[in-house]
Amino acid sequence: MRRLFAALAVGLVALTGCTSTAASGDEPIGDRPVRVTTTTNFITDTVAQIGGDNVEVTGLMGPGVDPHLYRASAGDVQSLRDADVIFYGGLQLEGRMGDLLEELAATQTTKAVTDDIPRENLLAPAPGAKEQYDPHVWFDVALWKQASTTIADTLAERDPARAAEYQANLERYLAELDELDAYIMARMAAIPPEHRLLVTSHDAFEYFGRRYGIDVAGIQGISTAAEATTADIERVAALIASRGVPAVFVESSVPRQTIEALIASATARGATVTVGGELYADAAGDPGTPEGTYIGMLRANADLIADGLIPDELITDGPGA
Ligand SMILES: [Zn+2]
Repeated sequence: MRRLFAALAVGLVALTGCTSTAASGDEPIGDRPVRVTTTTNFITDTVAQIGGDNVEVTGLMGPGVDPHLYRASAGDVQSLRDADVIFYGGLQLEGRMGDLLEELAATQTTKAVTDDIPRENLLAPAPGAKEQYDPHVWFDVALWKQASTTIADTLAERDPARAAEYQANLERYLAELDELDAYIMARMAAIPPEHRLLVTSHDAFEYFGRRYGIDVAGIQGISTAAEATTADIERVAALIASRGVPAVFVESSVPRQTIEALIASATARGATVTVGGELYADAAGDPGTPEGTYIGMLRANADLIADGLIPDELITDGPGA
């Protein structure tokens, strides 16, 4: 008898293991919108672009929220349980929601948008980070096209009656992402090669650097939880001075004094460097503004970086002129 139970249990695990929807997540959606709950606000936007009127998206994390440190509130848990589909970043981006998301996956369609990215296309995390891979894939638009396709496929699987609409929206959106990718390429290519160094306050931009040909020097660990050391600051200041990099970039979540110490150290080495402005890293901007979308967020970053690193006399020769 015990053996029979064991066999049944194994069969059940195999059954639930090979289908992404289970238990309560199986009823047809019908005419109502698909209820989707997401984590970061750029995932929220991407789902809205692909789902259109067929989805009702609730995003848990607004502008300026750090997904590495975010803990779900009781209201968030309810919103997740009420969802037909849950999308999150994965690769341990939502470090403190891992157990919860795993638990929800047993009964609901729960999908990491990075699931279908081939592992060989992922980067290793910064030294000392807890993740197995660098989770900041959204800064490589080619990888975000894959994430967008995963979103469309998952919606179509859960709501097959409207699969053609998700596919049409996806194709339109992928064309916009191609345009975005080309725009960023052109803006980065206009930066003099010696200035192609992005100095910023958390290691969110490694994928950006790899895709668009910019060296990246982070002065903090990959997770915003890690603090910059004096040795980090000295190392980056030396790099700024030796390459004549005119600007460094900040994030709102990082202590001002870290950047100030960096600029002081670079200046002492003979560099002339200013703060180029605040980049969007782990969250898009305010809803209703261009920067509140994934595309707007990446464009704003590309413009800020290019404007900060291209000497004034070359600006009129940029692609926008
Ligand atoms: Zn991050």
